[in-house]
Amino acid sequence: MSEKLLEVKNVNVKYVTDLETVHAVNDISFELNRGETIGIVGETGAGKTTTALTIMGLLPERVSKVQGEVIFQGKDLLKTPEEEMQKVRGEKIAMIFQDPMTSLNPVITVGDQIAEALELHNVDQLKDKAIQKRVDEVLTMVGIPPQRKIEFPHQFSGGMKQRVIIAIALACEPDLLIADEPTTALDVTIQAQVINMIRDLRDRHGTAMIMITHDLGIVAQTCDKVAVMYAGELIETGTVEDIFENPDHHPYTVGLFGSIPDIHSKATRLNPIPGLMPDPTELPPGCNFADRCPHKMSICETVPPKAFHFGTHSISCHLFAEKDSTRKEVI
Ligand code: SF4
Repeated sequence: MSEKLLEVKNVNVKYVTDLETVHAVNDISFELNRGETIGIVGETGAGKTTTALTIMGLLPERVSKVQGEVIFQGKDLLKTPEEEMQKVRGEKIAMIFQDPMTSLNPVITVGDQIAEALELHNVDQLKDKAIQKRVDEVLTMVGIPPQRKIEFPHQFSGGMKQRVIIAIALACEPDLLIADEPTTALDVTIQAQVINMIRDLRDRHGTAMIMITHDLGIVAQTCDKVAVMYAGELIETGTVEDIFENPDHHPYTVGLFGSIPDIHSKATRLNPIPGLMPDPTELPPGCNFADRCPHKMSICETVPPKAFHFGTHSISCHLFAEKDSTRKEVI
């Protein structure tokens, strides 16, 4: 049986200021086994990055209120003191941020930035020479000649900078890698290269991964499980087969599939989902997708849909109330 690595249980995140309360993440739960990859998909503002920052313990302290549990290797990270979290970050859980242009320190060479991560989490008690050897190894692993370690970030292209970020993230061989839209800021021409590289490295090291993206193509290529996020909720979850092969879907997921350009279609316009996500400071009393949903019923305006489970597949939508099965397997 696969070993459970991460359990996110009923997590809620609010950003509270004097003026308003933003309901960023609303009661989400999912699990991840060692070596598995889950894709969290959704449009901008759905709560994907807040979910990642919650796991990393990097939410802005003064304004964020978090409830629930994030159990990683048996320990609740939400109750772990900051001092201990500093050891978890980088060593056990690493994150690749969205924008490689702003994630690196411009006045430190890339080699020193990778070495810094190794020195901070020096679990193997490596000495200087061994650290430099490891820097050379990780640079080679991400396809950068080790001689370039003495160069500064501005001497690298966007794609190469993202490779450096990946090298830093993988330097300490973390058990969990969170990739937050790792290719969004990159040219289309190198997106595929970076995704293939992350996938190869993950397979080689058996690292579990949370892939945050709005691109269903990336999910199909890299993930074992999928969670579709909308207005801070996981509205559909399942295995990659549940999402890509099963014809039953939440209307939002149907909309996501419908807005993918089809090279074989003669359509002259794309088919976007009309409307916008609800204001997170004022979520509607019923279904969050009601204003944009072509199947809206009167119950949808007033009653929030619960999750209906079909084996490993779960959909939060009143349309599935009749098809509901009693069998529940958490993905
Ligand atoms: Fe549409 Fe109602 Fe389902 Fe929401 S619950 S997605 S409004 S049918």
